[in-house]
Amino acid sequence: MARNAENLYVVKAPKTLYEMTSAEVGAALENTKTVLIPVGATEDHGAHLPLGTDMFEAREICRRAGAALDAVGCPVVIGPTIPFGVSTFHMGFPGTITLTSNTLILVLKEVMMSLYQHGFRNMCLIHGHDGNLPQMMVAAQDVVNETPDATVVVMNWMVELAKAYAAGLGKSRKGESHGGEGETARIIATHPELVDIAKARTFYLQPHELRKIQSPEHMKSGGGLFYPTRSYKALTPVGSIGDPSLATEETGEQGYDVIVNWLVGIIKRDFFDEAT
Ligand SMILES: [Zn+2]
Repeated sequence: MARNAENLYVVKAPKTLYEMTSAEVGAALENTKTVLIPVGATEDHGAHLPLGTDMFEAREICRRAGAALDAVGCPVVIGPTIPFGVSTFHMGFPGTITLTSNTLILVLKEVMMSLYQHGFRNMCLIHGHDGNLPQMMVAAQDVVNETPDATVVVMNWMVELAKAYAAGLGKSRKGESHGGEGETARIIATHPELVDIAKARTFYLQPHELRKIQSPEHMKSGGGLFYPTRSYKALTPVGSIGDPSLATEETGEQGYDVIVNWLVGIIKRDFFDEAT
């Protein structure tokens, strides 16, 4: 399926803040003080996936979580998708756009403070790019420091998803990572017209390299170690890691289910069941 100017995009709902009117947000605020904020990125994901992959994923996760929360009587607003993140280590690939750490912290903080001013009190920062996690945590702390009553939670679903893959989700038993089987499957599930699987290239890292990018030891997957990345171009000349051709819509849907179930459980517990 080729990328071309004739592709049409359909928003299947629910609306995010960008698709809502101001009056709709005002009305929503009468039923909820909780907002989900997708934090994306604009960066290379190999020859087969679009630059907006992380932005699409973050938005999709929040839309699905929002719909699932609504279905169990926990209304939320799906906030503005932040399109840019800290993608310094992908700058070797054309089209990547990066913010510096300080800029992302400020963007997140000022977005949250704007939402706070309108009445939101519970902010869930949900990434589509784990490279943003350190800045998300700093911004979350800053907002709590500067308000008397905001609650912010940074939600790293990668830990739950990594457990599901370790337990047998997907086909690959090798080192899938950025733009590999899992991520490709999730984009196939939502944006099949933007996945050019014929261009996908299989590329695996050496074990000592993979350990620092994606492994149970890594903080993003629930471990205790964090290794900043210098250059993806130096690590993977094709921009992706793993075998994207193994990806299917079905495993993409299963991956989203794992992510959304976890998010819904935490958000329901923290902001509805235990709300005072
Ligand atoms: Zn990604």
